[in-house]
This record gives sequence, C-alpha cells and structure tokens, in this order.
Amino acid sequence: MSAPSTSCRIDVFWHDGMLNHDTGKGVFDTGMNPGFLEVLEKHPENSDRIRNIVSILSKGPISSYISWHSGSPATIHQLLSFHSQEYVDMLIEADKNGGKKEICCGTFLNPGSFNAALLAAGTTLSAMKYILDGYGELVYALVRPPGHHAQPTQADGYCFFNNAGLAVQLALDSGCKKVLVLDIDVHYGNGTAEGFYRSDKVLTVSLHMNHGSWGPSHPQNGTVDELGEGEGFGYNLNVPLPNGSGDKGYGYAMREVVIPAVEKFEPDMMVLVIGQDSSAFLKLNVVYPEVACYPPANRNCLKRVNI
Ligand SMILES: [Zn+2]
Repeated sequence: MSAPSTSCRIDVFWHDGMLNHDTGKGVFDTGMNPGFLEVLEKHPENSDRIRNIVSILSKGPISSYISWHSGSPATIHQLLSFHSQEYVDMLIEADKNGGKKEICCGTFLNPGSFNAALLAAGTTLSAMKYILDGYGELVYALVRPPGHHAQPTQADGYCFFNNAGLAVQLALDSGCKKVLVLDIDVHYGNGTAEGFYRSDKVLTVSLHMNHGSWGPSHPQNGTVDELGEGEGFGYNLNVPLPNGSGDKGYGYAMREVVIPAVEKFEPDMMVLVIGQDSSAFLKLNVVYPEVACYPPANRNCLKRVNI
C-alpha cells in the first residue's frame, strides 16, 4: 500500500482475475447462435472493454499519475451487507454446478464468473476503505462484472453484486451518516436505488435514458415518480433524459435538479456511479469512471473512488 497522497496521484485498484468472466458470443447479449451468421458478436460486457482501460491507464497520457493496487475478493459475509443470503446462496450453488447459467436475461454466470464477481465487489470495497482510511485523493476501482443493476435479491443487466451499494454500506457502517449516490450510467441504477429505497441515510440520484422497465429482473421504471418509500420517501431522485441530450442536457439537469438536491441533503460521503455507455446514447464528451466517492465537507481536497 502506498503512503498517503497529497499530490495528483490516482490510486487504481485492479485484479486481472476479473478478466476471467467470459460472457460469451452470440446475437448482442443473448448468447444465441442462430446458425446463419458469418460472425458472432462478443457480448457487450466483455473483457476487451476493461483490457483497454487498463492499457490506457498503463500506457496513456496519464500513466505517470497512476499508482496501482491489487484488489482482492469479497467475503460472503461482506456481500450480505447488501444482498440476501438466499440470493448469494443461489449464485454459490450455480457456480458449484459449473456455472454456464443465464441467471437473468443476458446475464451469464460462466465458469470463472463468480470469482470475478467476488473480485469486483472486494476490489471496490478495498478502494472505499482506502478513502475511508484517509489515503489518496483520487481512487479508481477498475472492476467488472458491473454492479449497479444488481438488487439485494436478484441479478440484472450483466450485474451480480452491487459494487457501489456494497461500498455505500461500508461507508455507512464506518460512521458516515448520509451518503449520496449519483449515477450517470446511461441505464437506470435500479439496483442501487432498490437497495436504499427505504432509507433516508442514502440519497440515490440517477440520470439515465428513459428506457423504463425491461422485465422481471428490472421492474423499476426509473421515472420521476419513483421517490422512495417509508423513511426513504423523497430520497430517490430519478432524472430520465431523452436520447441525444448531450453535455448541455446533463449540465442543465445537474444545475437545476441535482446540485440543489445534493446541497439540501448535505451528505458526508458522495458515491458517483459513472458508467461508460452514456456516450453512445447521450453523447457526453467526458471520460467515464464508474464510481467516485468523496466527502464534500472538504471540497478543496477532492477524494474519489472510481469503480
Ligand atoms: Zn449501462
């Protein structure tokens, strides 16, 4: 582990075991071969995507600012801070039986997938702990499979364990009183929202394409009227955006909706879930990490965990 940072260093948490999650080939994300195609497509969530991020960070223009840290797998006990025992047991059993199972639409648990998911969750927790322990100012947990669709009791949208949700729970368990989750992945961060839907300790904010529900694994609509329940009523803020909204649309939504809500909530930790698919539909011209966390009370010392 590196010494505490006071510079512009970016601490990247990574483990190449996450490359062993093989999502297969087929027509888009179906894994199906109709038998008459010349070329089968790689699943949209494939290891090439993250291999290139590793390459960019290793060899690209900011490589000299990167300090690498090895991630480690989450324990089952850690997973249970967000997920139900029954759901985790189901995945353990599926893995013991050799994997090769479509857990839900387009979400494949193949041999190696479960261990990769444990590494993604554990690496994210390590990155959050690094921030909580006062190390680093910009920390990036580079992980796959992704997590923000995974709900406490079910997988969804290529996600098994909710990496951001686990990090939020660790922050709460470590003494943070109010945590903001801001998700700008192009899809609704339904799993994270569901996990904290009845909590007033976590404000979940999601800006996303207006895609609605996509089936039993994703019953949430992501509409503005999904506001939370019970003590959590008013603590889930959905901002659906039309395709092609672009930087100006995001900027307007941030200025008019998100920033006022964040300032009113006054979080002592912020978790930014920033997917890498927004550019295809919303044409954002920014670099996409996946999660950033920082305590806003100290804005001059911006601390982030990117996942
Ligand atoms: Zn997405």
